[in-house]
Amino acid sequence: EKFKTGLEKTRTNFSGKMNELVARYRKVDEDFFEELEELLISADVGVSNVMELVDELKEEVKLRNIKDTADIQPVISEKLAGLLEKDGDDTSLNIQEQDLTVILVVGVNGVGKTTSIGKLAHHLKTEGKSVVLAAGDTFRAGAIEQLDVWGERVGVPVIKQQAGSDPAAVMYDAVAAAKSRKADVLICDTAGRLQNKVNLMNELAKVKRVIEREVPGAPHEVLLVLDATTGQNALAQAKAFGQATDVTGLVLTKLDGTAKGGIVIAVRQELDIPVKFIGLGEQKDDLQPFNAEQFVYGLFK
Ligand code: GDP
Repeated sequence: EKFKTGLEKTRTNFSGKMNELVARYRKVDEDFFEELEELLISADVGVSNVMELVDELKEEVKLRNIKDTADIQPVISEKLAGLLEKDGDDTSLNIQEQDLTVILVVGVNGVGKTTSIGKLAHHLKTEGKSVVLAAGDTFRAGAIEQLDVWGERVGVPVIKQQAGSDPAAVMYDAVAAAKSRKADVLICDTAGRLQNKVNLMNELAKVKRVIEREVPGAPHEVLLVLDATTGQNALAQAKAFGQATDVTGLVLTKLDGTAKGGIVIAVRQELDIPVKFIGLGEQKDDLQPFNAEQFVYGLFK
């Protein structure tokens, strides 16, 4: 149900046009496929993905001897789900059952990083985990306070230093605090300024080294947060971060605010990194563990 309401805009756009297409054509033919192509492209699925998908669809239609456009929707759903989640994708979080799990969260300012951390903390808490947050974005004005507000909102401690301090030192403190509290999960915020990419990437690398040194095997996840409403921009950011640090999973935010939810497919195809969570609103329970089938279900009426 969360997927249904959260993907309302995309569903209205995509499903509405899809139904119209099916009703107008009735019989599957070349023109139908052409319009279907356009529809998928307009939903940000990505041109090459759409080409591939429609080719496969044509084959499938031949194979199953599908004649009516009305019978094609389940096949489209199946194909879309296959593009959203590849065989072997692990969409769950790599949580250590015995030891401290460290999750590093990266992404450009404004994409919803802090909000996602708050929501993720809440999600883990509802699963019975004890969580600590590290205010590693010491650069952006207000980032520490904002994380503090989330910490209070969802009832988890936030380890912080004053603005402008060394984020690696914050991480060191945070790991120590998480260990002494015997916390299950430490979620680390990081800076997201893009003005100076080299500094930012160096800072991320340094933060990561501290975590690696203090907790063997950590970070267990590096989650890259992307804003789904930014389309191609999100892809460019993902590539930049992907080069600087080993991203293990994606969080796509603000899917409730776009009619172009197809961007999830484009991102998954382009990056070869599993989508682990999607953001469907600003409230604490608006972060959903990603599930391709539920996502596709959310796209259709
Ligand atoms: P940060 O700079 O990356 O830490 O971004 P913030 O967490 O401050 O988020 C920026 C804005 O996006 C805030 O107004 C958030 O409430 C909003 N936001 C974050 N995630 C979502 C989401 O999934 N849906 C919607 N509608 N808004 C979101």
